[in-house]
Amino acid sequence: MDFELTEENRIFQEAIRDFAQKEIAPLVDEAEENNVFPQQLFKKMGEQGFLCPRYPIELGGGGGDKITECIMMEELNGVNAGIAASLMAQGGLCTQPIYRFGSEEQKQRFLIPAIKGEKIGAFGLTEPDAGSDAASIKTRAVRGGDDYVINGTKIFITNGPICDFVLLAAYTDPTKRGEGINLFVVEKGTPGFGVSRKLDKVGNRSIETGELVFEDCRVPAKNMIGEKEGGGFDMITDTLTSGRITYGSRCTGTAQAAYDLSVQYAKERVQFGKPIIKFQATRFKLAEMATNIDVMRSYTYRVAWMYDQGKNVRKESSMVKLFTAETLQKILSDSMQIHGGYGYMMEYPIQRYWRDGRLFTITEGTSEIQRLVICRELGL
Ligand SMILES: Cc1cc2nc3c(=O)[nH]c(=O)nc-3n(C[C@H](O)[C@H](O)[C@H](O)COP(=O)(O)OP(=O)(O)OC[C@H]3O[C@@H](n4cnc5c(N)ncnc54)[C@H](O)[C@@H]3O)c2cc1C
Repeated sequence: MDFELTEENRIFQEAIRDFAQKEIAPLVDEAEENNVFPQQLFKKMGEQGFLCPRYPIELGGGGGDKITECIMMEELNGVNAGIAASLMAQGGLCTQPIYRFGSEEQKQRFLIPAIKGEKIGAFGLTEPDAGSDAASIKTRAVRGGDDYVINGTKIFITNGPICDFVLLAAYTDPTKRGEGINLFVVEKGTPGFGVSRKLDKVGNRSIETGELVFEDCRVPAKNMIGEKEGGGFDMITDTLTSGRITYGSRCTGTAQAAYDLSVQYAKERVQFGKPIIKFQATRFKLAEMATNIDVMRSYTYRVAWMYDQGKNVRKESSMVKLFTAETLQKILSDSMQIHGGYGYMMEYPIQRYWRDGRLFTITEGTSEIQRLVICRELGL
């Protein structure tokens, strides 16, 4: 048993930390202020193999594994959760189904350009009336000659307003609940595909999130992932299982940043004649945060390691997401408390982590849905 990062992991961690500080941190304030993602990052990161670190080098990826991706996500989230989310969607949700189940032609046309940052992807599953109950989506894809004609609406889509393609979930056979779903690549510019609105969010403001509409949108049948109709739900589950592990590092990075800010503030803020870090009430909060962060990080890496070994981690990936996202809420609440009134002011950075981190018990499966998955996997 070895609980240490390898030498290679550490070199990668230093490189991505350095990149995040030099290339991403200076862009954060403007992106958050204007709610506009700095798109130049896609190419810049793609060129260095940082965009999709766990895909093979031959495809333009970093040649790493799930642990590598977690190391990257922890570092990026420490700098800015919104920007990290946009990049995470590119490295996971909207490319993994193509990587694992796509045709050679789909890999050439969509996957490789996405890995290189030449094309921006989005993943369209959620609909206005179908969130946690993803099998209740209404989007339909009806075969007509060499095409599928798609009709439906997708909401809350990360990168939706800026994407070059969306990996879209639609029913080819609505009589088969869940089983009759397929994934399609729909390219920007396809007649009938439009962004109906960009959504205004409480946090993660540097990602662009949108509502997408598909009206008699004709998509070539060769853009369907997989060789036959049906089976798309399993591809989605496969992708979400991986994504939920990534959430562990997303939560850990945010928690670590909140802890660091809290320590710094507690050393500087003087009340009753001494820095507030001298009060046991503050120190105990910090001790508890540090303990929880250690557990969050260790557990995330353990499950990432299991994933890399090819083990079935459906239960553990939900456990990672549930535990880290819920624990993060307490850490953020305590961080805000340590900051007092200044923390509630927009000029102090803790408010951004507090707003951004609130999302993590909701996206890619709410905490309640993680509990349902864990119960099912435990046979309860
Ligand atoms: C910023 C942001 C980015 C997103 N990005 C994407 C994206 O890129 N692509 C995409 O497809 N989706 C995306 N989503 C959608 C996200 O995955 C959904 O918001 C999430 O799955 C929850 O669905 P919902 O919001 O419809 O909530 P609902 O499903 O309506 O849930 C509301 C509440 O009811 C609870 N609930 C529902 N069912 C049960 C149950 N059976 N038992 C117990 N409790 C239950 C939920 O846990 C929750 O607390 C994004 C969302 C946000 C906010």
